[in-house]
Amino acid sequence: MALRAPKGTTDLIGRDGEAWHFMQQAAISCFAKYGYKIIETPTFEQLDVFVRGIGEATDVVGKEMFLVNSTSSLNKLVAGEKLKSEDVLALRPEMTAGVARAIVEGNLVPPDATTTKFVYAAPMYRHERPQKGRLREFHQIGAECIGAPEPSADAEVIIMLIQFFESIGIPKDKMRLLVNSMGDDNCRPAYRQSIREFILDHAGALCPDCVRRADTNPLRAFDCKNADCQQVLSSAPKITDMLCLECKEHYQSVKAFLDASKVEYIEEPRLVRGLDYYTRTVFEVQVSEGLGSQSAIGGGGRYDKLIQEFGGKPTPGLGFAIGFERILMVIDAVGTYKFGTYGIDVYVAAVDDSTRAQSFAIARELRDAGVAVELDHQNRSLKSQFKHADKSGAAHIIIVGPDELNQGVVKLRSLATREEELVKLNDIVASAKDRLFNSE
Ligand code: AMP
Repeated sequence: MALRAPKGTTDLIGRDGEAWHFMQQAAISCFAKYGYKIIETPTFEQLDVFVRGIGEATDVVGKEMFLVNSTSSLNKLVAGEKLKSEDVLALRPEMTAGVARAIVEGNLVPPDATTTKFVYAAPMYRHERPQKGRLREFHQIGAECIGAPEPSADAEVIIMLIQFFESIGIPKDKMRLLVNSMGDDNCRPAYRQSIREFILDHAGALCPDCVRRADTNPLRAFDCKNADCQQVLSSAPKITDMLCLECKEHYQSVKAFLDASKVEYIEEPRLVRGLDYYTRTVFEVQVSEGLGSQSAIGGGGRYDKLIQEFGGKPTPGLGFAIGFERILMVIDAVGTYKFGTYGIDVYVAAVDDSTRAQSFAIARELRDAGVAVELDHQNRSLKSQFKHADKSGAAHIIIVGPDELNQGVVKLRSLATREEELVKLNDIVASAKDRLFNSE
C-alpha cells in the first residue's frame, strides 16, 4: 500500500513552508521589540507535565494526547509490566506546560528576577478529528511573559498579539478580540459550583459529555462543540458577576489599559478556553472568514499558579499561542500576503559535457559569494537547461561554452531582457552581483 502522511498532518511545501519560516521570523522580530527571547523545549515531555499543567479533565489531556513509546517501553507494556512515570511520555499538545517545566527545572526566573519573556515557534500534536483548520499536527507561535503580576502586562501581551496579526497583513476590522476573567482560587470555586448546579439542573437538555463534566470540570462545558449545549449554557451564570474584589480590580485595570491604548475588545463572560491552568485574564482573537467552522486564530491568558504547581516558587505568568495554519487560511481569505520568498538568482548552464566541471566550479564560486544558484544534475541538453532556468525563477543565466572558456570568458544573459554580455572568468562574481543588486 502507498505510504501516506498520517491523518491530520500536512507537508509544508513551497509557499506554505516559506510562510512558516517567514512568520516565525516576523514573530521573533516583532516580539523582540517587547524584550522576548527564543525558547525551545523538547517535542515530547513526561505525560505528567501535561496532566499536571493542563489538567486531566480537559479534552486536550483526557482525549487528545499522543503517547510516545520506545520499543522497550512498548515491549514492557505488552508484557503487562508498568512503566515508571518518567518513562510515560507524550508529544506536546501546547507549549506553556513545557516552558513552565523548563523554568522550574532550570530556575530560569528566580523570585527576584525582572520579568522574563520567551517566544517560541513549534509543531504541536493533538489527536482531534481532522477537519478544516483543525489538524493533529499543527504549528504554533507563542509568547510567555513570566514574573509580571500587574494588569499592564496582560494589556501589553494582548496588544503585542494584535500588533503581530496586523504586521502580517490581517486587517484590523476582520479581527475580534474577546476578553474575560476566569477569577482565581478565591472566587472560581464558587463559580464552578454554580455551573455544576446549572448543568445538573439542565441535565436533560445537555449532551452526556457536559453532564459528566458537572463532576469532573464543569467549566469545560463552555467548550462543548454541541450547538444545543451552547444554547442552554448561554443562560448560565456569568463569572464576571462572581469575581472577588481583587480579580475584579485586575480585570478592570486590564480593560483600562486597553482602552487607553484604543484597543477594541468584546467582553465574553463564557470565554473559558480549553486549558485548566488559566487564572484571571483570558483572551482570544477570532476571525470569521476563511476558517470553516473554526474561528480562533490565537488566544491565551494568565496562569499565576502553574509554575508553583510544578514545584517552583509562586511566579505569575501569562502568554498566548497563535495557530499558523489558521492564519494562513485567513490571509488567503482576507489578508495581504506579506511574507518573503526564497528565489534563485542565477542559473549556470553547461553548453556540453566538456564544460560541466567548470560550470560546477562557477556555481560554487557564486554560492560562496552569497548568490543563489541552480544548475543541472541530470545531464540535460542545453535547451532543457534553458527551460529549467526559466522555471527556477532565476534572473540571469550564465552559459558556459567550450569556445568561450578557451578565451577565458562566459556568457551572462538576462532572462528578462535576453541581453547578453561576455564576462571574464575572474569577473563572474562581481558582474553577477552587479547585475543582481545594482540594476536600476
Ligand atoms: P490553544 O492552545 O487551544 O489555545 O490554541 C491556540 C491556537 O492554536 C488556536 O487559536 C488555533 O489557532 C490553534 N490551534 C489549536 N488547535 C489546533 C488544531 N488542532 N489545528 C490547528 N490549529 C489549532
